[in-house]
Parts: sequence; C-alpha cells; structure tokens
Amino acid sequence: MKEIKVIRNEQPKTKPDGDRLGFGKYFTDHMLVMDYSADQGWHEPMIVPYGPITLDPSAMVFHYGQEVFEGMKAYKTADGHVCLFRPDANMHRLNQSSERISIPEVDEELLLDGIIALVREDQDWIPDGAESSLYIRPFIIATEPGLGVRAAREYKLMVILSPSGSYYPEGIHPVSIFVENQYVRAVRGGTGTAKTAGNYASGIKAQEIAQKEGYSQVLWLDGVEKKYIEEVGSMNVFFKISGEIVTPELSGSILAGITRDSVIRLLQSWGHQVTERKISVEELFAASSAGTLEEAFGTGTAAVISPIGKMKWDSEEITISGGHTGEISKKLYDTITGIQKGVLEDPFGWRKVIL
Ligand SMILES: *Cc1c(COP(=O)(O)O)cnc(C)c1O
Repeated sequence: MKEIKVIRNEQPKTKPDGDRLGFGKYFTDHMLVMDYSADQGWHEPMIVPYGPITLDPSAMVFHYGQEVFEGMKAYKTADGHVCLFRPDANMHRLNQSSERISIPEVDEELLLDGIIALVREDQDWIPDGAESSLYIRPFIIATEPGLGVRAAREYKLMVILSPSGSYYPEGIHPVSIFVENQYVRAVRGGTGTAKTAGNYASGIKAQEIAQKEGYSQVLWLDGVEKKYIEEVGSMNVFFKISGEIVTPELSGSILAGITRDSVIRLLQSWGHQVTERKISVEELFAASSAGTLEEAFGTGTAAVISPIGKMKWDSEEITISGGHTGEISKKLYDTITGIQKGVLEDPFGWRKVIL
C-alpha cells in the first residue's frame, strides 16, 4: 500500500448519538482529496480535515455537470474487525462512469488504498449498532474554470464518510412504489449506466410526485416505449413470477448494481433460476391478477434489499406478498448483511477486512 499524506484535523468534532444517525447527515473529521491536471494527471492523494472547498464560480461542474460518484460502506464485524464489501467493484464502476462522462480514469488500487487509509483514520466514527455502517461517498467533479463546452482539464476527487444508522430501524419492511408513466430516468445511449448526478437531478420531479401520492419510490420504465421495467429509485429490481426469479437485463440504460450482481450469484448458488430479460409492466400486473407474482424487491447498497409490498400503475394498485416481506427478500437480506457483518461464511470472497 502506498503511503498517503495525512494532515490531521486538530479540532475533531463531537460524534453524534448512535440512535439518531439517519443517512448522510453527519460527516467525519477527515476527507480524501486528489486533484487532476492535464499535465500531472491524478496526483498527490491526501487525507485532510473535512471542510468546505473553494471553487471558481465558473468551475465547469456547475455549468455542464461533469460529475461521477460511488456509494459503499464500511462495517464493523461481530469480532471487532472492519470490512468493506466488494470495494474493487466500486472502484471499477467509478472508472466506467467516468469514461461515459469523459472524466480521466483513476488508478483503482491507489484510490482504494486511499479510501482504506481514510476509513482507518476515522475508524472511531464507524458506528457499532447492529445494522449501522460508515457510508463512503467517493466523487469527482470538473473544477477547471471556464464556460466552453468540452471535457474539463482539471478535476477534484474527494471521498467523504458519513456514519449512518440502520436503513430499517424497525426491521426490514416493504415499501410502496409508483410506476412513473410520464417522466423517464434514462434512455439507451444516454447516461443511465453511469453513476452521475444528472440522472438524479432528472429523477427528483417524479420522486416528488410519487411521494405526494403516498408512495416512497418511483419505478422507472424504459425511455422509449414506457413499457419495460428498468429500476426502482436508485435500486435495481427483481421479481419472482411462477417460481422463476427475473430482473431487467442490463439494456444500456440501467445502472449495473453491485448488490444486483451479488443477489444473482447468491440466488444461483441456492439453486434458483435467475433470468435477466425484458419485463413489461403489463406482464407484471397480469401475473399479479393471475396470482403468480410471488415477490418483488429492490437491491442497492443503502437498503441492501428493499421488499416491495404495493405497486401503483395508472389507476391500478396491486399488493405483493400480501404486503409483507417475502421469503426470498428476507433470506437475501439476512445473508448479505450476515456476510457484511462477518457472522456468515463469505464463500465468494466479497468481504475485505481492512482493520
Ligand atoms: C447506485 C445505484 C444502484 C445500486 O447499485 P449498488 O451498487 O447495488 O449500490 C442502482 N441504481 C442506480 C440508479 C444507482 O445509482
């Protein structure tokens, strides 16, 4: 591991109460920063005190949105170690997102070393609550000043850490989702496969409408025919129909979730058939009427597994698994969180012990 320069925070903050963490509200004492310039490339990663940064008002990210990010977690295990979950996959995806947005790629190993050094530096911030974790947010922005429309020649990479509470303080429970008919998240050839801020900016409006209607998440349909299921909010989505587990294929407008991949591999190792294919919303509602839609759940780093209990499309609303958490959802949730927390075997080598 390369030595990373540290400028220690001489004024550490008081840590928040473990019961009130929520998500993304508190940040630790340090952050990782690394700059890119056309002549130096990415250089001099450093751990510095967490705090505001100064940017020129013409910094290109403010105008044309060249940004990418990642989301991962550090967990305290039952025996007091600290682990990351498949961090290589996050490093790789960051570069894939960057490639789409014309951001220069980073050395994945160097960045992971930097993240590990940062988590070690702020290890006292990792909450010990059963399902709590330290959320890790790496991101890159275009910092070059100027209003010309082109790829910037200067960037800043930062990694910030946020102690976060359990996604389900009262235990895993289903969410209700709203099938969005008007707005779309992404189209083939667009930026749907990249983890970039613009995808979120364009999705907020639909999210607001869904929430006003009393639903917690939006289910996105494909951008062309508004017929096929893509994702749920910032999660990939799975269904169990007549015993078969199906999930939308990676069609070019869906984010390839790492949890999605973990779920597919676990299900296959349990002997389930998992099919990646197009799934129309009609098919889903028809399966519900026929009584063959057995389960539905979203997958993502934040919630791990998010069972779907209700789904509204136009004027029709269906209830799935009787509005309860389905059997597969529960088993997947327990298995993945068990692997993350070190209470279960890790047959795939997903856990990376860092402390
Ligand atoms: C991050 C993200 C996901 C989930 O990815 P994970 O790697 O499983 O956390 C799914 N969809 C979108 C749009 C995302 O941004």
